[in-house]
Order: sequence, then structure tokens, then C-alpha cells
Amino acid sequence: MAETTVRNPSVILKPGREKPVRQRHPWIFSGAIARVEAAPIAGAVVDVRAHDGRWLARAEYNPRSQIRARAFCWDEHTVVDESFWLERLRSAIARRDAILPHAEARRLVFAESDGLPGLVVDQYGRYLVVQFLTAGADARKTMTVRHLIHLLDPAGIIERDDPMRRKEGLPPADAVLHGHPPTEPVVIQENGHRFLVDLRAGQKTGFYLDQAANRAALTPHYAGKDVLNAFSYTAAFAVYALAAGAAHVVNLDASREALALAEANLRLNGFSPDRWQNIEADVFRQLRIWRDEGRQFDLIILDPPKFATSRGNLQRATRGYKDINWLAMRLLRPGGLLATFSCSGLVSEDLFQKILFGAALDAGRDARIVGHFHQSPDHPVLLTFPEAAYLKGFLLQM
Ligand code: SAH
Repeated sequence: MAETTVRNPSVILKPGREKPVRQRHPWIFSGAIARVEAAPIAGAVVDVRAHDGRWLARAEYNPRSQIRARAFCWDEHTVVDESFWLERLRSAIARRDAILPHAEARRLVFAESDGLPGLVVDQYGRYLVVQFLTAGADARKTMTVRHLIHLLDPAGIIERDDPMRRKEGLPPADAVLHGHPPTEPVVIQENGHRFLVDLRAGQKTGFYLDQAANRAALTPHYAGKDVLNAFSYTAAFAVYALAAGAAHVVNLDASREALALAEANLRLNGFSPDRWQNIEADVFRQLRIWRDEGRQFDLIILDPPKFATSRGNLQRATRGYKDINWLAMRLLRPGGLLATFSCSGLVSEDLFQKILFGAALDAGRDARIVGHFHQSPDHPVLLTFPEAAYLKGFLLQM
């Protein structure tokens, strides 16, 4: 009989519920658990066992989360100590160095996809912005910061909050964890373009790094075009478009702070103000106004926030996606292009395509898929954990 190296509290599954864990899926839902032995606290490391007591995985536990345990290790004899977590961080960073060696801004750690549940680490030049999204990640905060300083020697580490912390029963968190990061936005480079990023108060960790590959992928399509960048945030797509010769770009966003930084980014990259316009408005409303006015564009980028935040609002989210896409299709000239995205994990690529099909029928337009988009490669998807694939998009030619 194999001898256990560590005696952790145990989570014992119901009969027949071990298959996903054996197949290395990291999430163990409360409904799959028969009993928990030795009352582990939130964030504690536990051993997951089949109903017959067979060892399955090591996981972090959270009694307050629907995802009761998150597995991160499938070798019974691995000791989970400080050096274990250091090696996990080191290899996550090494994978980014191998695949995106020259990126100044990139995601270094993408939680479960890197075997580090609940941990997000984004690099912006000399600064790191981190999120501790689960009880386990939160419990390892001090150690993680120490390891990141050891591995990367950053000038500053900032912690940013996320609504997911509430689902895990964690308090809001926004703090400086190391160094003296600036309160002013910092300048980063992405594929040769420069962007101001507000690390302390911007959305998410300050910048949508997940769209970097898609911003670049659209480069061949911008020249001479009259572009609408809807849900523009700080105008990242617009900067790529204008650099690639777009005739004009309208940035549309409901956030005044985002548009202030958008204007700063457009000026920073040296684009003449007669080539762009920023409009603070609700996209649903503004698209209707333009439809009524007969306003047309050659290329529309639709990159809305996550509409589907839970299964409960999936239907509503579906209607939201259909609505903006139907309207956008009406605003495109014949031959126009629609680059349309969904970052809702609950909306699969297949469902999103069906939504677009409905939108095209309602708009009375023929649309052809001429491109597919996914999250940038620094947001990898483990084959054992397909739920990590959340961003999908289509390039449609009208
Ligand atoms: N495309 C951007 C990221 C977009 S994030 C990039 O590449 O950086 C989504 C944006 O939608 C946010 O900036 C948010 O302020 C904006 N937003 C959310 N709901 C909106 C609405 N109803 N109307 C207009 N903008 C909205």
C-alpha cells in the first residue's frame, strides 16, 4: 500500500463521482462530496478521496464556495510546501517566456490553467498586478508576493479586487503589496504600440491583455476603413486600427474614465484628432440612434463586457448579445466586417455562433465567418480544464 507523505484533512466523494477528478479536472463541486473529515478551514490543503478511500488529488478547500475544492496536484507523494508553489510560479513564467518572449505586458499566471488555482498575475513592464480569487490563493498571498519578488524583482506589486472574491466569501481587496507603484498611469508597449495603463484604478488589472492577439489579427483589415470601436475601453483596438491606416475610428464606451485614457492613448501614439472621435454613451442606445439616422461603417468591433455572469442570467445575456450584433449588422456597409466577441465563459463558441445566426436573420443580412478569435496565448487553456476558454469571437463579412 502506498504511504501518504502528508496527512491532510480529507474530502471524500460520493460513489461514482471520482471520474472527473481522475481525469484531472480541477473543480470539485459541493454536490459531489459525501463528507469532509477533520474540518479544514477556508484555503486549507486537503486530500480528495474516492468513496472507497482511494487517494485522488490534492486540492485547496473552501467551505463557502460552490466549488468546494480546487485540485492542483495529482501525485500523492508530492509535498505541497513553499518550494512547490515557487516551482509552479517559475514554470508558469517560463512558459510565457517561451511563447511571448518580447511582450512587455502579459499574463504570467492564469490560475487553474497554470496549476495555481485562483491566482492571476499580470505583468506591466516593471510592475505586477495580482488577483487572489479563491480562499486558497488568498491564504498564500504573503508567500506568493515573496516568491514573485524573488523570481522577477518587480518595482511594485499591486493587488486588485474582483467580484469573484465575493463568491468565495472573501472581502474586497485593493492594495499595494510591494514597492512604490505610481498612482499615475504607466506606459506599456504592445506590438509596438504604446498604451497608458491605470494599474490602480483601471478595469480588471488595468488593460485587456486577453485581446492582444485579436487586436493584432485585425491589422490587415483596417486600412482606409471607417471604423466603429464599440465598448472601446481605452481605445486599444483604435490605436492598432489608426496605425494600420484606418481612415477614421469612433470609440464608444459608457465609462468617462476609460475614454479619458482613450484620448490620452490616441494622442500618445500621435494620431491627428480629425481621424478619431470618442463618444461617451450606452452602446445599445447609440447603435439604435445611428440605425435611425442611417449611419454606416466599414468595420465594427464589438467587445462587450461579460454579459453572462451566472447561469441565471444566461437568457438575458443571450438577448443582449443578439441585440448589439443585430444592430451592428444593420450599420455595416455591404462587404463590411464585424469583429464580434463574447468573454462570457457560459456562452460557448457554438452558442455564440447560433446567437449571431439569429442576429443575421433578424437584420436581414447574409454574413459569412471569415475568421475566428480566441484569448491570447498567455491565457492558455489546459485540455483537462476547457472552462478556461472564455473569450471567443468571429470575424463576419457582410
Ligand atoms: N475592447 C477593449 C475592452 C472592452 S471591455 C480593449 O480591447 O481594451 C468592455 C467595455 O465596455 C468597458 O470599457 C466598459 O466601460 C464598457 N461598457 C460596458 N457596458 C457598456 C454599455 N452598455 N455601453 C457602453 N459601454 C459599455
